[in-house]
Amino acid sequence: MVLVEPGRLELQEFDVQPPAPEEILIKTRITSICSTDIKVFHGQVSSAHYPLIMGHEFTGEVVEIGSQAVKKYSIAVGDRVTPEPYIPCGHCAWCRTDYHYHNCATVGLYGISLACNQPPHLLGGYSEYVYLIAGTILHKLAPATPDLAGSLSSVVGNGVRWVKTLGQMSFGQSLVISGAGSQGLCALAAAREAGVSPIVMLGLSSDQARFALAKEIGVDHIVEVDRQDPLQSVPDLLSGAPDVVIETSGVPIAIQTAIKMVRRSGRVVSIGLSGGKLTPIVFDDLVWRDITLVCGKGQAGNVVDAMHLINSGKYPFDKINNFQYQLPQLGRALAETEKPPPGFIKGAVVFG
Ligand SMILES: [Zn+2]
Ligand SMILES: [Zn+2]
Repeated sequence: MVLVEPGRLELQEFDVQPPAPEEILIKTRITSICSTDIKVFHGQVSSAHYPLIMGHEFTGEVVEIGSQAVKKYSIAVGDRVTPEPYIPCGHCAWCRTDYHYHNCATVGLYGISLACNQPPHLLGGYSEYVYLIAGTILHKLAPATPDLAGSLSSVVGNGVRWVKTLGQMSFGQSLVISGAGSQGLCALAAAREAGVSPIVMLGLSSDQARFALAKEIGVDHIVEVDRQDPLQSVPDLLSGAPDVVIETSGVPIAIQTAIKMVRRSGRVVSIGLSGGKLTPIVFDDLVWRDITLVCGKGQAGNVVDAMHLINSGKYPFDKINNFQYQLPQLGRALAETEKPPPGFIKGAVVFG
């Protein structure tokens, strides 16, 4: 499914050739739909190159491995794999530093920066086959891991990043996760795995499907912010202010609430995007209350931990993509991701 230009999707056919020596050919099984796809669809992502096959959260089955790639990757034909979206250069200062290769100046991004009008053409997940090119970081799915869960490797990687790299959390700390979307749910699983407890999730009364899954993953308390004031409910539930707040929604009032809510000398991890809206913050409050405010992009170097979590089978990640579509329905899938129908958590395109 080619995004010929912003706003125009078209089903096109390409010949599938054997992969080049450095490449791996996979047959796509699941591609998870990301809110970034919506921005790429509307032409709001500066690194996007059209015409483009979108899709950067996917799993596939290895069909053929190039002669050089065989030496670099310990994979076999038939393995189920998920690539990281970023394709780092591997040589610059950012790429040689832990957890920062997403700052690489020449980093490639599946489904975003690689146009489909030049070989090997198939470089995004909304395609029946995808070529994984030199520099790809690849992870294997365990035999029992559902494809749906594997397709979330980078989303779970983000959750790991908010909790571990940015949040610096460990067992016994209390946490509030603001936002019940897939990012909040993946952060919840990472926090549970780290022994963080108790955990409160903030969402809207329309988030019932998300809350039900959050309970399965292991949330301790839920606060519906359109029915209760979280600045009163959360300290009641925790018998005090939380050690850390992870704010995933990007809504200005939610960011302000997170800063007011966290304990003195606590930490706020604010990673939601507000779409360019201003969030007024009185920095004196941060200074006097000794608050650490951390912001940042998603996973880089966190997917290894994410795959441990996914392949452990301990968390029902396969239930996050609860709306599924066929490839020709991608237009509707994107529209529903943008304006979610009741019960929607996250969508996925299912192949085969
Ligand atoms: Zn994404
Ligand atoms: Zn680099």
